[in-house]
Parts: sequence; C-alpha cells; structure tokens
Amino acid sequence: MSNITDRFLRYVLVDTESMSDQEAFPSTEKQKNLGIMLKEELTALGAQDVRMDDYGYVYARIPANTTKKIPAVGFISHMDTSPDCPGNGIHPQIIRNYDGKTIRMNAKTGETMSPERFPELLRYMGQDLITTDGTTLLGADDKAGVAEIMTMAEYLLTHPEIEHGTICIGFTPDEEVGRGADFFDVEGFGADVAYTVDGGALGEIEYENFNAASAKLHINGVNIHPGSARGQMKNALLIGMELQQMLPMFQNPACTDGYEGFFHLNNMSGDVENAYMNYIIRDHDRAKFEEKKALMTSVVSYLNTKYGEGTVELNLKDSYYNMREKIEPHKYLIEIAENAMKSLDVEPVVCPIRGGTDGARLSYKGLPCPNLCAGGHNFHGRYEYVCIQSMEKIADILVEIVKAFAER
Ligand SMILES: [Zn+2]
Repeated sequence: MSNITDRFLRYVLVDTESMSDQEAFPSTEKQKNLGIMLKEELTALGAQDVRMDDYGYVYARIPANTTKKIPAVGFISHMDTSPDCPGNGIHPQIIRNYDGKTIRMNAKTGETMSPERFPELLRYMGQDLITTDGTTLLGADDKAGVAEIMTMAEYLLTHPEIEHGTICIGFTPDEEVGRGADFFDVEGFGADVAYTVDGGALGEIEYENFNAASAKLHINGVNIHPGSARGQMKNALLIGMELQQMLPMFQNPACTDGYEGFFHLNNMSGDVENAYMNYIIRDHDRAKFEEKKALMTSVVSYLNTKYGEGTVELNLKDSYYNMREKIEPHKYLIEIAENAMKSLDVEPVVCPIRGGTDGARLSYKGLPCPNLCAGGHNFHGRYEYVCIQSMEKIADILVEIVKAFAER
C-alpha cells in the first residue's frame, strides 16, 4: 500500500468545499469533480457497479469471492470539505521524519505550528506529516478517509486470495453542511452494516454521538422614537438577551465536555424591530436532550406571555440522534474494529463524539454505521494535518476488518 500519499495529495487538490443553507444538492457542483475522479479510479481498479448519481454520491462494489454467508460490509467517507475555512488553492507540505519542533508552514507569512500549542504533534515524532501552508484547510477531513478506502479497495482487488463477502463503497457530498445522509441510497448501496471512516487520530472508534437540534428564533420588536417610547417600545435585541439569560449559564460549549450537553448560540443579529438568534442544542442523553428542547420552548412561551403572543417565534428542529441505541444490537461491529486494530498493534480508543456523523443518520435509516479514525487533526482550519503512517495503518485496518467478517 505504497501510494496512499499520492492518492491523498491528488484528492486534496480538488476543491470540494460545500456551502451551508443551499436549496441545491449537492450544495456546490464542484464536489462532483472529485466524484468523477473517484468513479474513474474505482472502475480502473476493477470495482463493480461503479456509479455517481445526480446528487453526486459515488457508489461501488467489490463482489464476494466466496459462497460463505458473510454480511455485506460498507465503507463510507465524505468528499466535501468544511465551508469554515478556504478549501481551494491548497498547498500541502510534507514534513518528513518530524523532529518534534515548531513546524514552519509558510516562509512568506511566517505561519508556524508548534507542539506547545498543539501537544498531540509530539505523538508523531519520527513520522511523516502533511500540513497546509497556513492559508487553507488541508481536507484530511475527509479525503484521508477517501484515500484509505480506495487503498483498501485496490489491495482487495489485487489480492483475490483474501476471502471476503460483498464490500460496498460509498463517497458522499455535503457531510460538512449536515446533509451527507440526505439522499444516501441505503438500499442501492447494498450493505448490511457499514463504517464511516471520518474520525481523528489513529485508534479512534466512535459509536456514541450527540442528539442534535437547531432552534431558530425570530423576535418581533416594536420600534418607537426613543424619546416617546415609554411603555410602548419592545426592543427585540433586549428580549433576545433576556432569553439567553434564562438558559442555564454553564450549559454552553465553553463550559462542557465528555457527555455534557449544551445550548450554543451560533449567531445573533438584528435591531430594535427584528432580532434573530440561532442556537444548536446538543446532548448524548435522549431524555436530557428532550428536557433542553422543552426548556427552550417554555422560555419562549414565557416571553410571549410577557411581551404579547407572537413576539418570539421559535423554529425547533431535530437534526440527528445518538446512534448508540442502533449500534448496540450490532456490538460485534465495534469488537471487529477493536480486534483489527489490536492485530496491527494499534490501541483502540472508544470515545463519544461531541458532534454527529453521516453514520449516525444512516444508522437511523437502517444501516448500522459506527465511525473509525481517518488519521487527521485540527479539522476545519488552517492547522489541519494528517500523519502518513496513520493513513497507511488505517488502510491496513480496513483490510483486517474485511478479513474478520469472513472469519466470523
Ligand atoms: Zn469529516
């Protein structure tokens, strides 16, 4: 599996930045450029039923080479990169045999990345890293996953002596804008179970994620000349501030970690007449999640009683749920991944995700789908980097997982 780096570098050069709040799907047409490339590569490798649909999803299959009854296992990663940081004009830098010192990313801008600021860099001493030049993200999230799955596919297709069931491969657009599972063709994909390869450092396995909702608020104020406003003005901005004050002070992202949930005020804008606030609500625990939503609803209803019906309009919508309850009946998926890692001297680390994945939503669409590491760090920003040896190891882990399914 020698060419995973070339593969990765080829994919990150394709601009696949997705865009929030778009009607169209995929949110940006350019994501299909990578889709076409992957479709051609899969075809050249000898994969079967290779297709890209109108939405930009790429699907392929490696047929079973045994008559043994083995569940069809899928591997999924996403092609788009986050709109939080520029995703075009990427200049990857390869740091060979990292010495544990501050990395100079860009001679012109003087941008550096130091282990003081990012201590996990020290894990990679003696290994090879790929960083950005400090002006864009890298796209290891999730093109590292794409490169690992492609490398696994190539290995299986060139080693027919490895016994395996049907292997399904899926690459999705628009994961970063929360829509990667929207039009995923679970039935056409054909897998019984699957893994997303979209996590962080080598060894991570995840099957618990947040329950998630969005709360969009529109506050209708009443503006009157401030000189004669007594008893009549309703300042939408002040009502918004009052709303925030009624939410639990410590239940926000800056004060929580692990299994603690939160209300996160993502943005706020407005004037006296109209104010807008967008929150996201998160909790691993379904009951606490429902309580948080109920609290938001009752705060709004209190404000409407106080300031008049219709003053605060709330649009509360669930985004995704914790996949734990969908994975637990298929706990062997986690055991297989753990054993595959251990057989390659990688210590598995099972941890809850403080976010969501395509796999969480796919799990609720009937495809149990935990998440595996892809090998990168500092996603969605200029300090994103990936370790080459981690990517190589993860491709090996995927092959081991495939073997384990056949040996069960
Ligand atoms: Zn990702």
